[in-house]
Amino acid sequence: MQNGDHAERYVKRGADHDTPCMSQLRLDPLTGRWVVMSDERASRPQAFQSRWMPVHGDPDRPCPFCPGNEEATPPALETYGPTGQWLVRVVPNLFPAFQGKVPMVVSHLGPVFTQAPASGIHEVLVISPEHDLSWSELSDPQAGLVMAAIRDRIEEHAAQPGLRYSQAIVNFGREAGASLDHPHGQLMGMPFVPREISDELAGFARFEGSCLICTAADAEEEVGHRVVYADDRCLVLCPFWSGTPYEMLVVPRRHDPHLHHAEPADLAAVGRAMRNALALLRRRFGDLSYNLVFHSAPYRTSSTFHWHVHMLPKLTTQAGFELGTGVLINVVPPEQAADDLRAEVAIQ
Ligand SMILES: [Zn+2]
Ligand SMILES: [Zn+2]
Ligand SMILES: [Zn+2]
Repeated sequence: MQNGDHAERYVKRGADHDTPCMSQLRLDPLTGRWVVMSDERASRPQAFQSRWMPVHGDPDRPCPFCPGNEEATPPALETYGPTGQWLVRVVPNLFPAFQGKVPMVVSHLGPVFTQAPASGIHEVLVISPEHDLSWSELSDPQAGLVMAAIRDRIEEHAAQPGLRYSQAIVNFGREAGASLDHPHGQLMGMPFVPREISDELAGFARFEGSCLICTAADAEEEVGHRVVYADDRCLVLCPFWSGTPYEMLVVPRRHDPHLHHAEPADLAAVGRAMRNALALLRRRFGDLSYNLVFHSAPYRTSSTFHWHVHMLPKLTTQAGFELGTGVLINVVPPEQAADDLRAEVAIQ
């Protein structure tokens, strides 16, 4: 019963923000997915603002990610750039979804109440000192530096006992979930392997060739018409199975399960390729919102995987059918999407 009380207290604690509280994982027994209960994140400025509002709604609050306002964030975990002038900065997230080093001990509070502490790491990656410079405008060296920072942080997470996987993301624009407009990403070191990754691992395992992504890259390059950008180190394509309009997959040619084991030149090439692809999207659609999702294998896995990046422009909203079935209806076939984006290169 005591455990049951604990769950109850957690729900009621919303009003009491003086005590720092840890997020909690709860298992959805219908789907087998973990849900992070993080009432602390609800206290973020503009957590529930209408999605069509500008990202930065409070002009009186100075941007915490601009140079000169470093005191507005916790001290940096890592900075990159010449002495006295950072170019990329990594800071702890003020409203962490994952926090602390408590082992992930799963408690069963009842036949359908399963919970665990949401321990782990939650960091913010400021991708440029410039407030208005998005990934689509990064210079080559800056794109390389951002990718190097992601690699270094994942390496650091992987060394921490109890963690199994790191998720790096960039949300750009309010429709994509950004809560501040200064371009930034987030890095979560997590104590479990999330469903998206276990589903992809299962996809690699089902595939009868050597590596699903190596094969997809070769096959797409052979037919050619879904390839948006290619160089000697990586490929950007609108995958055959695209679920949303203009989604792209960025694939490093060198097979490696782990982003944090990738060679600096491959990381830099992926960063540049993403910049080029985002610039094409921007030329076509103007300033659109998007999500960048970095997928790498869990730190310790013997399964086949090939790290990659999903670029997901926010041009449509998932509605009842998609939410209810998990079946996506894509109104722009990837052949068309790749064609449109390549046409922007020609117009340049
Ligand atoms: Zn700023
Ligand atoms: Zn591969
Ligand atoms: Zn993936």
